[in-house]
Amino acid sequence: MMDSRHTAWPFFDDRHRAVAARLQDFLTRHPLDEEEPADAAAAAETVRSHAALLGREGILSYLVPGAHGGAFAELDARSICLCREFLGYANPLTDFAFVMQGLGSAPVSRFGSDEMKAEILPRIASGEALIAFALTEESAGTDAAAMQSRAYKDGGTWLLNGTKTFISNAGIADYYVTFAVTDAERGTRGISAFLVRADDPGFRVSETLDVISPHPLGSLSFEDCRLPAGRLIGEEGQGFAIAMANLDIFRPSVGAAALGFARRAMDAALDFAANRRMFGQTLADFQLTQARIADMATALDAAALLIYRAVWQADVSGRAATREASMAKMFATEEAQKVIDSAVQLFGGRGVCRGNIAEKLYRDVRALRIYEGTTEINKLVIARHCLKDRQREGR
Ligand SMILES: Cc1cc2nc3c(=O)[nH]c(=O)nc-3n(C[C@H](O)[C@H](O)[C@H](O)COP(=O)(O)OP(=O)(O)OC[C@H]3O[C@@H](n4cnc5c(N)ncnc54)[C@H](O)[C@@H]3O)c2cc1C
Repeated sequence: MMDSRHTAWPFFDDRHRAVAARLQDFLTRHPLDEEEPADAAAAAETVRSHAALLGREGILSYLVPGAHGGAFAELDARSICLCREFLGYANPLTDFAFVMQGLGSAPVSRFGSDEMKAEILPRIASGEALIAFALTEESAGTDAAAMQSRAYKDGGTWLLNGTKTFISNAGIADYYVTFAVTDAERGTRGISAFLVRADDPGFRVSETLDVISPHPLGSLSFEDCRLPAGRLIGEEGQGFAIAMANLDIFRPSVGAAALGFARRAMDAALDFAANRRMFGQTLADFQLTQARIADMATALDAAALLIYRAVWQADVSGRAATREASMAKMFATEEAQKVIDSAVQLFGGRGVCRGNIAEKLYRDVRALRIYEGTTEINKLVIARHCLKDRQREGR
């Protein structure tokens, strides 16, 4: 079971400790550490069933506001991060099933019409419907504003054309929050967000992508996809701001998932090192091993401090903590990769064998340094804030 002593930190209150206890209880009753799915299709089935389980158990209720089936009146970033840390420790694919429900639905929770919220949020919280967040395109990844997808007003409806790629939950989602240019003259203020349903005419999943750690991922195609006016999320031209607001909440949570993966690798490596005998003692008895363990433990605590500082700040101030979110995401994912690499090293040859937990986590964690803002882009965000602060202070 994951060590949860950090929930005593001042970033948390009793409500968060109750979330941690609920997750511990859930994971005791449902050990999710099952065999890794062989491919994207098998992973899709796992995600479907784990999302349904999380819905039945009330765990998805942390991803929607109280008025529509949520646990708390407003989304609480600390609870979301705690859920991801616990679920990530147990099974990265379960964490993925969890977070996709939030990444996709938060634009609706925060900017959608009452009608849209009432239609989809209770179904997301129960796990009955799955959702995706479709921003990335072939020529618009980090530079998301370079998207080519276009939506035009046609009478009382919207006509959407374009493609998206690297979309998680492609093929299993019932809803796709999709971003498209509605006014090419207005740059980022000319991008709008739409709710597309999987059965909308003109929409299809055009490709399935296989990645190093199988999960449902694919490309989407929109060909004269006609959407009723009510499918616009927020205001026309607000789409880019909606996408960025989502990142402020979910970026630190990527760090929290990575932290859960790394804690698991560390625990497994400690067990191994304490039992592996060599040269008349255990691997853990060597000072070189202890130095490695100290580095791993310190990296985990530093990552946790940055993550929960960022989300505490966002929850308490009610404002975006963009710089802190970038620091947390960048540091936690980079350090998690190093901690897991250290675990592989401690396991020796076993560490690179399929079926070893460190080998699996080594693959699982890799994409987290890329999606929702690469490490490089987070460095740029942090540096820009530092330089802006300096300018503002007139230094
Ligand atoms: C497993 C997985 C799941 C994903 N799920 C989703 C999803 O659900 N929805 C969605 O919309 N997208 C999703 N993505 C896409 C993800 O957000 C993009 O991959 C990411 O934004 C990077 O874009 P790119 O892959 O096009 O790389 P590019 O933008 O082409 O970047 C290539 C490299 O250039 C670097 N780079 C970029 N800008 C600079 C700069 N200014 N200076 C220096 N270096 C720079 C990047 O850091 C990177 O190392 C997912 C990706 C993966 C791998």
